[in-house]
Amino acid sequence: MSQLARGEQETIGLLRELGVLEDINPTLLSDGVLVGCGDCDRSPELLNFYRGQLEKKNGKARLHLIMVNGGPLRLVHEEKGEHSAAIQEFLMNQIEGSLALKKLDRVILLGHGPCGQAGLWGMNIEATIAAFFEARDKVLARVKCEVVVPVHIDYDGNRMKTYHVDYPKWAAWQKLKEK
Ligand SMILES: [Zn+2]
Repeated sequence: MSQLARGEQETIGLLRELGVLEDINPTLLSDGVLVGCGDCDRSPELLNFYRGQLEKKNGKARLHLIMVNGGPLRLVHEEKGEHSAAIQEFLMNQIEGSLALKKLDRVILLGHGPCGQAGLWGMNIEATIAAFFEARDKVLARVKCEVVVPVHIDYDGNRMKTYHVDYPKWAAWQKLKEK
């Protein structure tokens, strides 16, 4: 199973300090089409947290699942010989179709780190979060809906937590780094 590198742990600590990774506010959670990674070791925690919070809030949870290796990363990942464009189009089609089919208006791009698939592509946690936002922009450009980007962090196989990623704060941090 992949593990967070020490540098990545530090990045996550910094992102917590900066408020980029915030505790999930249950009042802001809602049903939706959830695009996530099918990781057999992590998907139960990924889903149970979200489902549990929604059930507590609404009495039930309507999460329409689209689970693939790498989850939201597949919406933007480009790789030669991997039919990336076709995969991206298929996923976008599934998202659009699911929103209409289930009369939902929100897309939840549920990322996780460390993600084995992201590791195979050589992406660290920062590159992974950046890609989640690329994926978010792509969905927003095509579909009329709300998009949220939560991320589940597995610190060491025991300690895990799902955070909301605050886009304005993330963008501000990226800008600051460019200087
Ligand atoms: Zn994964």
